[in-house]
Amino acid sequence: MRALSVNADLIVFISRFWQTTCTAVRAGEEGFVIDSPVYPDELEAVPSVLEHAGFPVSGLLTTHADWDHLLGRIAFPGASLGCGESTARRLAAEPGQAERELREFDEDHYVDDRPPLSLAAVQTLPVPGRLSLGPDEGGHELELHPADGHTPDGTAFFIPWTGVLVCGDYLSPVEIPWISPGGSAEAYLATLERLRELVQRAETVVPGHGRPLSREETLGVLDEDVAYLRALMSSGVDAPLPAGRRTGAQRRIHEQNVATRRPS
Ligand SMILES: [Zn+2]
Repeated sequence: MRALSVNADLIVFISRFWQTTCTAVRAGEEGFVIDSPVYPDELEAVPSVLEHAGFPVSGLLTTHADWDHLLGRIAFPGASLGCGESTARRLAAEPGQAERELREFDEDHYVDDRPPLSLAAVQTLPVPGRLSLGPDEGGHELELHPADGHTPDGTAFFIPWTGVLVCGDYLSPVEIPWISPGGSAEAYLATLERLRELVQRAETVVPGHGRPLSREETLGVLDEDVAYLRALMSSGVDAPLPAGRRTGAQRRIHEQNVATRRPS
């Protein structure tokens, strides 16, 4: 796992698995951790890195309900876990699914030292909305924006005092747009257009998978992703993958995306 200091008030962890990102942000005596790394040793390292860096953890947040983003409570078992309304609905509609998928991952990868994960009592946050952090006077506010299309749920967090946008599974330098069950290319495109405005206000963008990107790099990825999705909608399997993301793993995601376009 890598840990990057992106801003005096923001640290990004990048997991060895799928380059899944975890973002810690602070304002004075308060701080949040958004999403999670994947392996048990990575989750164990996060609290001590943050303690050393003077980053308090008052709560956990998640961008969406895919299992690889939901593991924060393994690192911080007592912490509250907050998510947007669409993610709370999805968690309630598929009870136990994230835990099941985590168990499958651990079996496939021979991981046998995983502490238990509890997703009970998740706090629902209004989206669009704001979440305040730090002292009442001179505190800061996180902005919550809807980000669906990859999955039926999703929230992007814009953190104005750091100039950072944490967007979930969009705008990745390592993963093509992935239309999971319940997502759609149409909703994904609409989210990219909403994210475009936030990217223009940001210095740095932290995608759900892959390293943080500058505004200019992100706008490049955004245009490639729009072109890919439009081609997927018009040409299906023949849609060219974005340059630099044409690996076997991305072709398999592309095949899944094509399957979502077929009438069932
Ligand atoms: Zn993901």
